Amino acid sequence: MLITHIGGKCMKRQIIDTISSYKTIIIHRHVRPDPDAYGSTFGLREILQASYPDKQIFVTGEHEESLDFLEKPDQVTDDQYEGALVIVTDTANTERIDDQRYSTGASLIKIDHHPNDDAYGDLLWVNTQASSVSEMIYELYEEGKTTANWQMTDNAARVLFAGIVGDTGRFMFHSTSQKTFEIAGDLIKYNFDRTELFNGMYEVERKLLHLQGHIYQQFVMDDNGAAYIKLPQELLEEYGVSATETSLLVGSLGNVKGIKAWIMFIEEEDQIRVRLRSKGPIINELAKQYNGGGHPLASGASIYSWSESDEVIAKLKEICE
Ligand code: AMP
Repeated sequence: MLITHIGGKCMKRQIIDTISSYKTIIIHRHVRPDPDAYGSTFGLREILQASYPDKQIFVTGEHEESLDFLEKPDQVTDDQYEGALVIVTDTANTERIDDQRYSTGASLIKIDHHPNDDAYGDLLWVNTQASSVSEMIYELYEEGKTTANWQMTDNAARVLFAGIVGDTGRFMFHSTSQKTFEIAGDLIKYNFDRTELFNGMYEVERKLLHLQGHIYQQFVMDDNGAAYIKLPQELLEEYGVSATETSLLVGSLGNVKGIKAWIMFIEEEDQIRVRLRSKGPIINELAKQYNGGGHPLASGASIYSWSESDEVIAKLKEICE
């Protein structure tokens, strides 16, 4: 597995110096945000607001209703980009950046933990070993605390903790390191309600559990542990579940004994989303063949017909053989 760590301590210092020299900082993340996208952007905004009260710090991007319990994006006008520093977190490639005005600032920083296939930005800090970008933001804070008196807040700790929990599958995925636990241990010293946070992240409506029941009943798996389930639009309508809501169910098949890698196909208005997960075989190369990418063990792609899905399944089977 290719491990990339571009940057490190020296890069963190450069990022901190750059941040301190701009008056306006606008933070972006990827489309279809998840808790790590929210945790890393809002965590950084909160830390910077507390550390530099005179700066204007914004988070932009379309709001995801299911993440209401975390934070809500700011309204940013086009003129505010003039002379601004733009920081993009958790986004491997420029097409997936939510709000394409990211390129209209004075300078651009990429902070990410996906493979660095698209090396955009004037400064890049990419660590594919980090469990989450929220973890990286905490590391940036640690450096800032000693070199520039950066301040952590209760709310920053809350959203960063949520980002780490989300991207590590509640500390279960292989990406969870000793450092991840140390950082989580530091974050819970701050004042926030963990039970309420976990409820926000994991309480689901009944209809979603009914669909989960359907997935457990109907998924198909071969002898090598290659599995898939197709969720066409009519089925989603029958269960009253939106395509976005199904993201909470992608991990469910991971509990199946003998499973190695699996795909959930979710039909949307204009495409079929392909969500790939694995417990060992590398699947992001397959995702790349279908307009996608991501991590070696968790990737996404897009196809445009159900016949293509059979092609993807055949390739997954080969990978698992
Ligand atoms: P998802 O299934 O949307 O949760 O995505 C799993 C992982 O794959 C995330 O880390 C995403 O960043 C990445 N990913 C999903 N879709 C794409 C895509 N179209 N292009 C590149 N990476 C993607």
